[in-house]
Amino acid sequence: MAQVSLRDVGKIFPGNIKAVDGVNLGVENKEFMVLVGPSGCGKSTTLRMIAGLEDISSGDIYIGNKHVNDMPAKDRDIAMVFQNYALYPHMTVFENMSFGLRLRHIPKAEITQRVSEAADILGIKRFLNRKPRELSGGERQRVALGRAIVRKPMVFLFDEPLSNLDAKMRVQMRTEIHKLHIRLQTTIIYVTHDQVEAMTMGDRIAVMKDGIIQQVADPITVYDKPKNKFVAGFIGSPSMNFMSGTIIKKENRIYFDEGKIRVKVVDDMYPRIAPYAGKEIILGIRSEDVYDKLFVSLAPPENIVRVNCEVYEPLGSEVYLYLNTGKHTFIARVGAHDKPKVNQDMDVVFDMSKVHFFDKATEETIV
Ligand code: ATP
Repeated sequence: MAQVSLRDVGKIFPGNIKAVDGVNLGVENKEFMVLVGPSGCGKSTTLRMIAGLEDISSGDIYIGNKHVNDMPAKDRDIAMVFQNYALYPHMTVFENMSFGLRLRHIPKAEITQRVSEAADILGIKRFLNRKPRELSGGERQRVALGRAIVRKPMVFLFDEPLSNLDAKMRVQMRTEIHKLHIRLQTTIIYVTHDQVEAMTMGDRIAVMKDGIIQQVADPITVYDKPKNKFVAGFIGSPSMNFMSGTIIKKENRIYFDEGKIRVKVVDDMYPRIAPYAGKEIILGIRSEDVYDKLFVSLAPPENIVRVNCEVYEPLGSEVYLYLNTGKHTFIARVGAHDKPKVNQDMDVVFDMSKVHFFDKATEETIV
């Protein structure tokens, strides 16, 4: 069983640089876990500690029930795929893919069979006699994947494997790695700064910031129920819109008052939001939860706000509208048929059942 478990794992680099801080993470057997976060959040260091390429400052790491803190990388039964492919330039594709197996004195016939199988899966059979310089970036990354597959490791570790590829190739390789996971049924831990990769590939994703895991959950839960403002803003494209404002209580109703616009908080959220009456709070709303009023037949009047349309950005299948309340700018994602006039006022509707509220001081999710 190839589960991976990190218990209170920390890494402090010389100069007292705290790169990873008390990380607890359980990756299940055959799970595809994505570590995602902005540059410098400690995701590569976490992966390198699992791989055995970096010492652990505190905590414990287990791979398949074995305590591996002091186990050398070569004995951990893992294979790592890097961003820069790390292929040997003077070796052919076959030699690159078989190198690790030759070091382990695997019989020649078995090497040929394993390389051929992996090359088949990845569609690189016709390149086996070429050198890496005779391949495109995407083909090289496939060879790097092939080199990992032939080892038949318990766990695959990927460190931003697609960042050197162009946008189209990235999308293609993303699907291929996904399919590979289904086919190989192996545990994968995948590091990326790209939230789209995280959302589309992971069974679960762990969102990191400043060396600390902020939330671990399946992609939809992270998207719909972010634990705090950081996760809410990091996951999703365009990013969630945020506005600060005050909670106003009037009789048995509560409103979010942004200064220029005011919307009614739905009854379901009342118990959580009422204690904030008179206080500042942050409202978060995703761009797909703001509609042009023209296309809403029964808009509740208390959820309609008047804004100025500053920019109209057509993307073919949809349109991004950059709207201004007079205090905050935010984005609405509307249908391609919607063509409001730029620099004119328009009415939009907030889907108040979908909004999020965050505590202004702690930035934790209230509801
Ligand atoms: P990126 O996406 O940019 O690779 P990351 O999330 O993978 O970022 P890490 O590479 O894990 O981040 O780095 C985490 C922190 O530790 C950063 O502040 C980085 O500067 C620091 N760091 C990483 N390696 C070392 C090192 N060898 N010595 C000192 N500090 C380091």
